Amino acid sequence: MKSLSTNTIDESIFSEPATMRAARLHVIGEPMRVDEIPVPQIGPDDVRVEVKACNLVPNLGNILANWKAWNPGLPLPELPAVFGLDTTGVVAAVGKNVARTKIGQRVYVNPGVSCGTCLACSRKDTMNCKNYTFMGYFGFGPECQPIYDRYPLGGLAENIIAPVANIVPIPDNITFEQGARFGYLGTSFSALKKGAVRADSTLLVLGITGTLGVGCVLNALALGVGRIYGTGRNSELLEKVKAIAPDRIEVINLDHGPVAPRLWELTGGDGIEVAVNCLGPGAPAAYVVDAFAAMARGGRFVNVSGVQERPALDIFDLMCRQVSLISSNWFSVQEGLEMAELARIGLLDLSRFEQSSWKLADVNTAINSLPNRHGGFSNYTVVP
Ligand SMILES: [Zn+2]
Repeated sequence: MKSLSTNTIDESIFSEPATMRAARLHVIGEPMRVDEIPVPQIGPDDVRVEVKACNLVPNLGNILANWKAWNPGLPLPELPAVFGLDTTGVVAAVGKNVARTKIGQRVYVNPGVSCGTCLACSRKDTMNCKNYTFMGYFGFGPECQPIYDRYPLGGLAENIIAPVANIVPIPDNITFEQGARFGYLGTSFSALKKGAVRADSTLLVLGITGTLGVGCVLNALALGVGRIYGTGRNSELLEKVKAIAPDRIEVINLDHGPVAPRLWELTGGDGIEVAVNCLGPGAPAAYVVDAFAAMARGGRFVNVSGVQERPALDIFDLMCRQVSLISSNWFSVQEGLEMAELARIGLLDLSRFEQSSWKLADVNTAINSLPNRHGGFSNYTVVP
């Protein structure tokens, strides 16, 4: 390992490993195979990261088994493909234009890549690129395949290639496995930012016990939010979430009827100023409608959930009460940098996760274990 002191091509890129092991999906619905594949060359603005952990996000099973049928407008990479959304590792090579990122640095790789040529990209609004593509996962536009061609790797491999603009250095006080949680953490972090949450806000987290929900709580605590209300159905998990900060968190079981009256009572009539919807895709839309009834005048409801059932929202009522519905998808590199700093100074506590790791060779066992997760507390990773 060596570090670069000048902005020149690092000689090590010429002695890069020619091949590496990677788990690849060859056929939808079939197990992955661990193959020996070429290591792609990095471009002048890219880095190669030696993978130390890749998160198995809860949605991965759906991506691998059902995605093409469920979401034909959200293209997968051409098969065979290396999947894996959230990757951490050590920078092993840097392109000639890379100045600040150094070989040996511990990093998270934000997988969201933009095309650089669409209208949004020309305005530097890269998160709204019409071809925004997650390396190793899926994309949002019709022209994602050229991005997959340039960045063909997800994190279920020994190395990943990424634009340096996607790199988030992670602090020494978090593990690679904890850092690989940044994706779902970042999703809720961006939601809280878009909801303009403040220390004195009343915050509702719908689905507080899931992967997004627990992450939302940890971020809200890090940002100093004093009054956090959460809904869920698993009593044991609800109590476990409340135990993180009993004086700041109240939990409500969705099985006990509508939550809006209880939320008005708990907030002393203030209502909910910011709501983040973290419900799972199969949750009833009635939960969403119920939560809107708890929104304060001027409140902001931020949706990061994939709830499939369509809620019947009274938009006249929302207009009268100036309640906003904000859609949020993923998070920016800048937001990742902010989370990394909150973790470094101890405000974002990632020690709550229950860690399970598998070797790359056991990737199929790991994927098949996803339904066994202990709500949002589980953190499943593959460590090559
Ligand atoms: Zn674009």
